[in-house]
Amino acid sequence: MRDAKEAEISAALLDWYDRHARVLPWRVGPAARAGGERPDPYRVWLSEVMLQQTTVAAVAGHFARFTTTWPNVAALAAAPDAEVMAAWAGLGYYARARNLLACARKVANEHGGHFPESAAALAALPGIGPYTAAAVAAIAFDAPETVVDANVERVAARLFAVQTPLPAAKRDLIAIAARLTPERRAGDHAQAMMDLGATICAPRTPDCKVCPVAGFCKGRAEGIAATLPQKAAKPEKPNRYGTAYVARRADGALLLERRPPRGLLGGMLGWPGSEWGPHTNSAPPLAADWREAPGEVRHTFTHFHLHLRVLVTEVPQGANPERGDFTPPAEFQPAALPTLMRKVWLHAQIGFLPR
Ligand code: SF4
Repeated sequence: MRDAKEAEISAALLDWYDRHARVLPWRVGPAARAGGERPDPYRVWLSEVMLQQTTVAAVAGHFARFTTTWPNVAALAAAPDAEVMAAWAGLGYYARARNLLACARKVANEHGGHFPESAAALAALPGIGPYTAAAVAAIAFDAPETVVDANVERVAARLFAVQTPLPAAKRDLIAIAARLTPERRAGDHAQAMMDLGATICAPRTPDCKVCPVAGFCKGRAEGIAATLPQKAAKPEKPNRYGTAYVARRADGALLLERRPPRGLLGGMLGWPGSEWGPHTNSAPPLAADWREAPGEVRHTFTHFHLHLRVLVTEVPQGANPERGDFTPPAEFQPAALPTLMRKVWLHAQIGFLPR
């Protein structure tokens, strides 16, 4: 049960949201919503999947391209896998793109092209975890669901001066967020909490002077807001090492290989290379005079730092690789490669320089 203070906080937040909601391409703002406009569940779902661990700024361009190319879930469901994976390039976490397609196809084929409205039914779809299910149910369908992302955790920890470090504090923060969620306008409330965390209650420097809920904020009153939420120290990420091979044929064609469907960068196009492990040790994809580009490519994944050696070679027209296929220069699109593979491509230019 929410108490009077919690009800006042959510009323103040909604009032602030009505006046200051961010304009976002996937959002139906409070005025339009009050006028009866409903959010498109497809756009809400697509934005929430894209926004996982990525910023609004990074998502905006991809969202515009996706919704122009595939304006509804049926269009996305019918898209070729490779086109969707290429359009996803730059957003990282390619397993999400594969799940995105699987989800679109399930909604198109098994739900008549309509997203289910409850969080429980949404969570049964591929790639939709508890957070995304709650966000889509609340924002698209106004279901009274509690949506807790990092912004919401921060606001809740500060408002109630929760000093237990994350992740142990998660359960308490979810309970606080649930008590703040109103029965009516749960979607707008969720977006108000996210907006407050993204704009005013910022991670390092909360701008409490202009905060609509400053009068209720225990973290501010105790002078500890900027230190919250506390976080338990993360273990150091291990290093892994590997080798990437960039072969250019006499006609300019480049040797590329589609990665296996499962695992990191699964299903994405890339340069043939070694496994990534404590040491790098592998056979090149074809016999040639390989030379190493000075330096290395570094890339950080969620669980490890990767260091890649890049070997390059130029081979004659009839070269016959054991792995991968030569892609003609006219068909080579560096922008469609995952970020790591684009870094390898840039680094390979150093190796191709005349010595
Ligand atoms: Fe965040 Fe400051 Fe507002 Fe508290 S008063 S919620 S710390 S911006």
